Amino acid sequence: MKAHSSSRPTTRKWAVGLALAAIPLFGFDRGCVTQPQTDILVTSPSVNVQGYIGRYDDNTLEWQENMAGWARMRVNGGAFMAWDQTDANNVWQQSAVPLPLGVNVLDGETWRSTPNGVVSGNIDDFILERKNDLVANGSQPVFLDWSAAGLDAELKAIATGTLNGPLTAAQQNAFVANVKAGVANFFTNAYAGTSVTLASAPGTGVHTVKFIVGDSCSLFGYSPGDYKNTNKTQTSHVLIGTFRCVLVDRLVSTTPAELTDTLAMRVEDVATAIGRTTAHEVGHSLGLTAEGETRLHGCGGSHNCEAYDDANPSDRFDVGHHIMDPGGSSKLYARIGQSNPNTRAKKTPYFERYGKSYLKLIHP
Ligand SMILES: [Zn+2]
Repeated sequence: MKAHSSSRPTTRKWAVGLALAAIPLFGFDRGCVTQPQTDILVTSPSVNVQGYIGRYDDNTLEWQENMAGWARMRVNGGAFMAWDQTDANNVWQQSAVPLPLGVNVLDGETWRSTPNGVVSGNIDDFILERKNDLVANGSQPVFLDWSAAGLDAELKAIATGTLNGPLTAAQQNAFVANVKAGVANFFTNAYAGTSVTLASAPGTGVHTVKFIVGDSCSLFGYSPGDYKNTNKTQTSHVLIGTFRCVLVDRLVSTTPAELTDTLAMRVEDVATAIGRTTAHEVGHSLGLTAEGETRLHGCGGSHNCEAYDDANPSDRFDVGHHIMDPGGSSKLYARIGQSNPNTRAKKTPYFERYGKSYLKLIHP
């Protein structure tokens, strides 16, 4: 046990002020949390929290080695725990931080001595939400069913409608095959770290994703919401005709995609968009993002909630970069895995830490 109670020097405030006055560009310290992940669900009544102290100049981490200092945390604005001194690797630890059931906001502070005086820093607010209603629920196999008629023609129409071409029949067939493989690959990567995995056939206990043509130009998919995944034999639908309609209409005008892109680039764009919706619909059937304070704080039809994200120190919404962001607020450039509408910069859609922590609890 290396934690000790220690009062902070009474000269701290004027010492920092003096340092700031003498060196206008003096940086600041920040306590960074490395364990556990922040903004996740946990089931234990207490956790050990670890981190380091970093010195920042102009918001850039300058150095973090040999920063002998102290850190302490508190939960929900309560009493601070005992100061813990960093070890030889600049790591501080708060042992057995108690977590009441529900949403907990943790924060803290740091200090260390320097030749210019004592420098203090903050450990920014973060959420650790403790739940006791989630139990491991085995694995969830998922079968991707591309057997419906007309799907290949819709996919080919996306390629020919968003590239200068002309594309040969062989190129169009390769596009179809590579998009389907890319969807499977996206799905597997999105659910990495969970036991939600692809199956080679449908059946009892297998979730089926039925790809259909549909007759919509706005609905990408639908599925049954199922908090805690109480029924593993469900069916989701993904409407490929909607992707054809929307992508031919708006891909080039609202995303970094160009008519001059390569076929391989378009495969990745389309596989990412369809893969994201596939992962999204299956996510609903596993319980994401169930609405209500005792569930997962979703809103707008069990989606990641922008209002919750705005009101809390959390990372639950990002215009479609998160897989469970609501359809109406998900930008097309985010759906194809781009960070912005203008210049290509890859940002693959993902389950944010909170949603992934839920999936890992029910399907470890
Ligand atoms: Zn949805």
